Amino acid sequence: MDDQPYDDATVDETCRFCGGTLLSSVFDTAFRDAVAEERLFFAIPGALCIPCRQLYVDRQLIGILGLGGAQCTFAIQSDRVLRAGAA
Ligand SMILES: [Zn+2]
Repeated sequence: MDDQPYDDATVDETCRFCGGTLLSSVFDTAFRDAVAEERLFFAIPGALCIPCRQLYVDRQLIGILGLGGAQCTFAIQSDRVLRAGAA
């Protein structure tokens, strides 16, 4: 029903800036949006280039999060899977 064209923005295997290998994982991130406001997002699926620290996030997800004009300022690999109902 949702006829999307082939999306070549899905996570590449290598960094388009340095050619480094990307680590596909889940990340805790900070983004700075167009009005320089920091916004934190946790457990974002993406791919991180280890050499140059470029984070690749699916473009659709960026749209869902409203981060179209935002810049990722911080990302660390989330070593914890979200625990529902942590007391
Ligand atoms: Zn890179």
